[in-house]
Amino acid sequence: MAGAGTLPAKTERGLSVTWMGTAGFLVADGRDSFFIDPYVSRYSLFRVLAGLPLPPRTDLVRRWIERTGGASAKAVIVSHSHFDHALDAPFFAAETGAVLVGSESTANVGRGAGLAKRSIKSVRPGDVFRAGDFTIRFIESVHGFGLFGRTPYPGVIDAPFSPPGPAAAYRLGTIFSIVIEHPLGTLVHHGSAGHYPGMLRGLRADAMLLCITGRGNTADYLGNTVIACGAKTVIPSHFDDFFRPLDAGPRRLPIVRMKEFLRTTRTLCPDTRVVMPEAGRAIALA
Ligand SMILES: [Zn+2]
Repeated sequence: MAGAGTLPAKTERGLSVTWMGTAGFLVADGRDSFFIDPYVSRYSLFRVLAGLPLPPRTDLVRRWIERTGGASAKAVIVSHSHFDHALDAPFFAAETGAVLVGSESTANVGRGAGLAKRSIKSVRPGDVFRAGDFTIRFIESVHGFGLFGRTPYPGVIDAPFSPPGPAAAYRLGTIFSIVIEHPLGTLVHHGSAGHYPGMLRGLRADAMLLCITGRGNTADYLGNTVIACGAKTVIPSHFDDFFRPLDAGPRRLPIVRMKEFLRTTRTLCPDTRVVMPEAGRAIALA
C-alpha cells in the first residue's frame, strides 16, 4: 500500500540517499557517493525577488558535507542551473574534490566560481557519467510550473560569472532527469516537476526522487514518471520552504498540495510506497 512511512536507517553496505532540502541528495553505496543538486545557502524570498546578490554560504556547505558523510563524494551532479539547484554545487565540488557535472550553463557556474577545468564535466542529453559502480545517464526533461504558470529564469548561462549573483543570473540551461543505475537498483532523480509523454520510455526504475512542486495535474505527472518506470518507492522532494534556513526546521511550501499528492498516489499506484525524507537522515533503499 502507498502511504507515508519510514525506512530503516542506512546500513554499512547498500544503496542509500540522504535528502538535504529542495532537490538535494547525497546518493551512496557504502563505498562511493555523489551529490545531486545540493543547495543549502537558502536565501529569503525577499532577497531573491529583490534581485539582491546571493553569496554562497561555504560554512553551511561544509556543515552539510559533514552531516551527510559526503566528504569523499566523486561528483556533484546538477539537474538544471537555477539558483536552488546550482548555486552551491561548485562549492560542494571544491570542498570535496568532486567533479561538477551538468549542462554547459552549470559548467559556466563552475567556471565562474573558480573551479579548475579538470573539475568540470559538461554533459548533454544521452550522455553517461560513471562513478564507482554507479552509471548516471542524463535524459532531457522540462521544467515544472513556476509562479503564474511560467518557467522562472529561462534561457542559458552563456559565460562564466563570479558569485555572488542575483537569482536571475542563474538561468535554466538544459534540464535533466537523471537515471542512476547500480547493481543494487535503479533510481531516477527528477529535480523539477515538468514532464511529457514518453520521457522515460523503456526505463524501469526501483525508486524515484521526485520533485512535487509545480507538478500541475498529479495523475498526469505520475503517469509520465512513477507509473511510466514502475517505481515502487517514491521519495518526494522540493516540497520544503527553501526561503528559510534548513536548520529552522521543516515547513512546506504552501503550493505543494501534499495531501492531494499522497491521496492520488495511493489511488493510482497502490503498490508504491511514499517515503517522506527528513533532511540529513539517510534512507536505505537496497
Ligand atoms: Zn528550477
